[in-house]
Order: sequence, then structure tokens, then C-alpha cells
Amino acid sequence: MRIAVIGTGYVGLVSGACLADFGHQVTCVDLDHDKIAALRAGRIPIFEPGLDRLVADNAAAGRLGFSIDLEPAVAEADVVFIAVGTPSRRGDGYADLSYVHAAAASIARALSGFTVVVTKSTVPVGTGDEVERIIAETNPDADVAVVSNPEFLREGAAIEDFKRPDRIVVGLEDERARAVMEEVYRPLYLNQAPILVTGRRTAELTKYAANAFLAMKITFINEIADLCEKTGANVQEVARGIGLDNRIGPKFLNAGPGYGGSCFPKDTLALLRIGHDHDSPLRLVETTVAVNDQRKRAMGRKVIAACGGDVRGKTVAVLGLTFKPNTDDMREAPSIAVVQALVDAGARVRAYDPEGMAAARAVLPPVDYAENAYEAATDADALVLVTEWNEFRSLDLERLRQTMRAPVLVDLRNVYRRAEVEAQGFSYCCIGRPAATERAAAARAAE
Ligand code: NAD
Repeated sequence: MRIAVIGTGYVGLVSGACLADFGHQVTCVDLDHDKIAALRAGRIPIFEPGLDRLVADNAAAGRLGFSIDLEPAVAEADVVFIAVGTPSRRGDGYADLSYVHAAAASIARALSGFTVVVTKSTVPVGTGDEVERIIAETNPDADVAVVSNPEFLREGAAIEDFKRPDRIVVGLEDERARAVMEEVYRPLYLNQAPILVTGRRTAELTKYAANAFLAMKITFINEIADLCEKTGANVQEVARGIGLDNRIGPKFLNAGPGYGGSCFPKDTLALLRIGHDHDSPLRLVETTVAVNDQRKRAMGRKVIAACGGDVRGKTVAVLGLTFKPNTDDMREAPSIAVVQALVDAGARVRAYDPEGMAAARAVLPPVDYAENAYEAATDADALVLVTEWNEFRSLDLERLRQTMRAPVLVDLRNVYRRAEVEAQGFSYCCIGRPAATERAAAARAAE
């Protein structure tokens, strides 16, 4: 099939490359000249494991091309995916649909012959109707079926997720689109990935419901972690104890500094607006958003408390800035609130992230950047682990202690074992694992 992907960001580029890998003929289009020029020159503008290879292979095979020129790509396409951004609208939390609407109008002008137009961007319920209306208004002769096919991939594991999804959701109102979408995803169909065909509005809402549920699950275990700290329980054991229940499941039960990223924060807010507009409030989601916002701010206070209550004039090393490992995405990363709180309290921050420092410079207050974890820790009064990149999982603690001014480790991802860290002379602060509880457990194990 001939496919055009409009918007070549995290989702558009991964989708385009994977669809080309399925054997389709794909053109990825973007307004951003620099991005397209980089891709044409073989440079990948984002960090996503395996993507450079996938893009290079499919470009070399002639199945994947990049263009700023939407018109020929759409005119030749059987299927056009819209994968532009839908950020939060400034001030009110609604999804900003201006990019989707602009893309729909451009697509409408370029259409030729029957075309399936697929919204892959995360969009509020009813956006497919609006895309259909814009196309009909812009080009009354256009012959289209507008489909919703929300994307569930995770940054950092995007290719694996796209190629081996838990499910594919396809929302359609025009039956002609069914066979086309089955053809697009045929390789996955053969792998028996479930394809769930629904109405368009159901598909649109399914994406928001999934993200809100996951955000709620994270927030739930974070609140349980706080309770563990007050009651002497251990959140990792509680998480395992509930996660082994099939009805609950073990994933998304790692207590931490609060969720961030390009999707959960904006999608939970957008879902609240959808609920509000339809007079169907979502109080659990409302509370999730409020609790998570408070939590990100509270993490700064937690670090300051671990430093003895005052960080004025102290140097704090921050490891991991991106909202999660294996991406360079800094959107709504918890590190932003932590670093801001430390800077506001008078600390000097020295930060290091394996892939996110270029993006971090654009969103963090002015801080120093280091070349690696050990350089960040040199003469530091505390080390804070904010994002659990693999290279931070087995740091040489002895080397760190020797280089630091004060041996304080704040582990906001519960990566380390207390006994091991304390044995190296560190004071250790983590999430939902109170010291007395862990020491008692270690003593029991040693008996
Ligand atoms: P992004 O900001 O990385 O990329 C969007 C791209 O669209 C940009 O390169 C921009 O230049 C381009 N663009 C905007 N308007 C355009 C137009 N009219 N024509 C051509 N290009 C245009 O965004 P993203 O993270 O890839 O997200 C895209 C959508 O997918 C969003 O709705 C998001 O919620 C959803 N989504 C994202 C993820 C994720 O992990 N990032 C996962 C699932 C779903």
C-alpha cells in the first residue's frame, strides 16, 4: 500500500518506519524543514533505540522517504495517517487541535481517488467527525473514509510496541475502511495481534481511557508509598503482593517521583475537559492530576530534607533528566520540578543525562551539566537519581563516595538496595521503603 504519514515526530517517524518495514511504500511528511533535511541526510532527530537502523534499512530499500511536500505524498496515497502533535492548549487543558485541523485541510486539498484518512494523534471524542467535516468543506469532491487508530506505543520501546502491540484499535464509520486497515496491519494480523474494530468515537475515547487508567495506577502506588513511609510497610513488597493478583497486574506499580512525559499529563487534562463538556465529570482522574502535580513538587522538598533541610550553597548532582529512560524527551519530566525546587532553595545543581541534555537545556533553569555520573557527583553534597537509565543501576558507589563532599543518595526510583548503599557509608533516602522496616527485614534474612 502507499502510505503518507503527516507529522514526523516520535509517533509519525516510528509508525512510518515500521509500516515501511511491513513492506508498504511510505512517505513521512513534516513542516519542519530541518527535521526533514536531517532525515534525508540519514540523521535521526530523536533518540529511540533501534530507530536509526530501521530508518536506514527501509530508506535504503526505497520503501521510506521524507518530504516537506504534502501534496504529492497524499495524492499518491491509499492511506494517510495524521500523526501531528496535540499538546495541551495553554491555560485551559483542552487538547490543542489546531495542528490536526490544519493537517486535515492540507490533506483535503491534495486528495485524489478514494483515500482512508487515519487519525493516529491522540484526539478528543468527535475529532474524527470534525476532520470529516473539514475535508468535505475544503474539497467537496473528496472521497474519504475517516478512521481513528490511536497509538499506544511507549517511547523507549516504541518499535517493539508498534510491531508487537497488545492490540490495535481501529474506529471506523465507513465499512470501506475496514479492508484497507486490515491490509495496513496485515503482518500483525498474521502474528495474531488482536485488532479491535469499533465505532470512531469509541476508539478516540479508548486512548484517553487507557492513559488515564495508567496514570491513576501510578498515582495510586505513589500514595501507597507515602503511607508505607508513615506506617513502616515496604511499597515494593506491597506492589508485588497486589501485582501478582491477575485482576491488578504487576506493571505500572513502581512508586516514584510522579508521572510525566509527552502523553499522561496532557491526556489526563484533555480527558477532564471532555468529561466537563459532556457533563460527565471524572473525579478519579481529577484527583490523579492534582495528586501527581503535588507529588512532583514534593520530591524537591524530599531531596532538601535528605540534605538536612537546607541546600543553600550546596551542590546537588542530578542523574537522569528525561521523563523516563531510553528517550530524549523532556516534556513534563519530573526532573523539571525537582531541579527547579533545588535551584529556588539556593542549591547549585549539576546534572547529567545520557541522551536528554540538549532538550533539558531548553526547559530547565540554568544549571551545570556534566559529561557523566561521576563528574556530576564530584564535590556534590548529595546525589539524586531521578530517571532510572540502565547506566545508573550499577554505579560504583565507592568511587562516588570518594568523589562526593557528603555521601547522600536520594533514589527516587528505588533502584538501589539500602544495605548495599549504607555499607558504602551513604545516607540513603528512597520511596516508600522506610529505613527501620528494611533494616528489620535484612536482620530477619540474616538470622
Ligand atoms: P511530536 O511533537 O514529536 O511530533 C509532531 C510533528 O508533527 C512535529 O514534527 C511537527 O513539526 C509536525 N507537524 C505539525 N503540524 C504539521 C502539519 N500540518 N504537517 C506536517 N507536519 C506537521 O509529537 P508526538 O510525540 O509524535 O505525538 C504525536 C501524537 O501522537 C500526539 O497526539 C500524541 O499525543 C500521540 N501519541 C504520542 C505518543 C508518544 O509516546 N510520544 C504515544 C502515543 C500517542
